[in-house]
Amino acid sequence: MAVNPLLETYKTPHQTIPFNEIKTEHYFPAFGEAMKQHSLEVDAIISNPQAPTFENTIVALENTGKLLNKVSSPFYNLLSSETTDELQDIAEKISPLLTEHSNSISLNEKLFARIKVVYEQKDKLKLTPEQKMLLQNTYDAFADNGANLSEADKAIYRELSKELNMLTLQYGQNVLKETNKYSLLISDKKLLAGLPADFMDMLATNAKKAGKEGWLLNLKTTTYVPFMKYADNRDLRRELYIENLTRCMTGGEYDNREIVKKIANTRLEIANLLGRKSYADHVLKHRMAENKQHVYDLLDKLLAAYKPAAEKEYAEVQEYADNHGAYFKLQAWDWSYYSEKLKDEKYSVNDEMLKPYFELEHVKKGVFGLATRLYGIHFKKNAKIPVYNPEVDAYDVTDENGKFLAVLYTDFHPRDGKRAGAWMNDFKAQWMVGKTDSRPHITIVMNFTRPTSTKPALLTFDELTTFLHEFGHSLHGMLTKCTYESLSGTNVYRDFVELPSQVMENWGAEKEFLDGFAVHYLTGEKIPAELIQKIKASENFNIANFCLRQLSFGYLDMAWHTLEKPFDGDVINYEKEAMASTQILPVITNAGMSPTFSHIFSGGYAAGYYSYKWAEVLDADAFSVFSKNGIFDKKTADSFRKNILTKGGTEQPMVLYKRFRGQEPTIDALLKRNGITQ
Ligand SMILES: [Zn+2]
Repeated sequence: MAVNPLLETYKTPHQTIPFNEIKTEHYFPAFGEAMKQHSLEVDAIISNPQAPTFENTIVALENTGKLLNKVSSPFYNLLSSETTDELQDIAEKISPLLTEHSNSISLNEKLFARIKVVYEQKDKLKLTPEQKMLLQNTYDAFADNGANLSEADKAIYRELSKELNMLTLQYGQNVLKETNKYSLLISDKKLLAGLPADFMDMLATNAKKAGKEGWLLNLKTTTYVPFMKYADNRDLRRELYIENLTRCMTGGEYDNREIVKKIANTRLEIANLLGRKSYADHVLKHRMAENKQHVYDLLDKLLAAYKPAAEKEYAEVQEYADNHGAYFKLQAWDWSYYSEKLKDEKYSVNDEMLKPYFELEHVKKGVFGLATRLYGIHFKKNAKIPVYNPEVDAYDVTDENGKFLAVLYTDFHPRDGKRAGAWMNDFKAQWMVGKTDSRPHITIVMNFTRPTSTKPALLTFDELTTFLHEFGHSLHGMLTKCTYESLSGTNVYRDFVELPSQVMENWGAEKEFLDGFAVHYLTGEKIPAELIQKIKASENFNIANFCLRQLSFGYLDMAWHTLEKPFDGDVINYEKEAMASTQILPVITNAGMSPTFSHIFSGGYAAGYYSYKWAEVLDADAFSVFSKNGIFDKKTADSFRKNILTKGGTEQPMVLYKRFRGQEPTIDALLKRNGITQ
């Protein structure tokens, strides 16, 4: 058989992936071989005649499957950033095989029996905190999957899991189908007064695609959000708003109300089976928040702090509307529209004014330079490292003392075959082999404005923020220094993972930072201070209402997942009660969001919606230390690196955080940043 590079030792710099040698047809056989090896490695642990120990069972298991990771990481990275029909075909073919393979390990009773023996001796083993974490995670991965249940209960657990899978899938499909079902053809242009020209073009294209003349409205975010912002016609705004908020709850074939109940109740049953009172208890065990009381504490504190400000904002928008011919109390479908107009009037700052100062090459220097200033690390392009597309750059990243730290790949612009959005990932994680530190290969992928024949790539302020965000994740990945792969880098609890990324965004609004690189690409003039001021002020516009909206989703999520008895009431009434304390705008009866709240009913955010706010509180609180000591203060940066960025998930996040901060986070810094307090 011909050589399959995925199965060979890489001879590239730092053993980076030889993209130039790997062909699409190499993946499928490599997956097969890697799964086979992985199974053999696991079998060797199970059939070890010696009594189970931390080393021969927990560490041994941690070290299995390296080849499988080696094959899957380029594959799944390319599937997102450089996909082809062939890759997608392989993904479809391989996905059930991978599930079956991972089940054969996670449901292996003999393997769990050995893990359990070690787990039960955990207090006598004198483990380091990192080892304790590894043991706990390994045990929980099995126990949370029903490994401790009796045979009868295991069967119930499997039934419930299957049921839950089916329900969440159906829920998601219903949302999609119901959203796609609605469209409204407008043939009288006058009805669309207020809409920007390029948005009108998009609506006309929508219509053409549907074989119609005119402008076609629908409920997809790309249409709905701008329409609510700009359309002068109040009746149409109202119609779209009501259509949007009554999706999947009007009794049609895609009605999700019964499914919402079933999902909540099935999750409760699963949690009960695993010995938890509620599904939130089950989820929060592996979160920084730890329990529902801490989540409610956060939501309640934020609510008390932001509600008065939100009422003031509402009054201000109402006043503006009154002065501009609105003779009615503002309703939900008026909010975005009048807010946008008022915002325009108060802060005339837009993308076009800022873009000339954010040329990509300058921004790169600024962002990399920030890491050099804070952490003493250096970036040097290495053309010898193979890349998967000529647009991708690879850098050698070295520490203050010149020691190799990581490889960083950057991939900035949209292409066919790249999915939307921005993300950080690794091509290879970090781990220790004995005393040898095997360093990571990290990638950041974006979809930034391309250069044109006459202009270099000029970023919007949002794109700058996104760059800082993903770069923050990459620092977490690059600076990590852990023993075990499954705990290194960004392998941390979900409500902690956004701290290193979001904290970096804070620099984006600091004059001291921007002055270092944000110069006009034609004139070389520094970005004016008043523009920075305006950016900050406009970011806080109606911030309290935005916060209350996030809180309302957080409360709703918790209401569905802290149930301790099966729910059999009215879904919409229950929702209204859960969200009541957060409402500023008049409540619309007979409309609700539980039937279309995909984040929590078909995404991964069940009992986790709060984490958006949790992460904001953390990043503001962490940045306040930099603000106090100086945003380039080396000592503060050292402490952040030592206590957070190197540590991955090796200890409880709150323990790590307190070592950096000296105390638990408070909401004070966020309130200040948002202009709620002075
Ligand atoms: Zn992120």
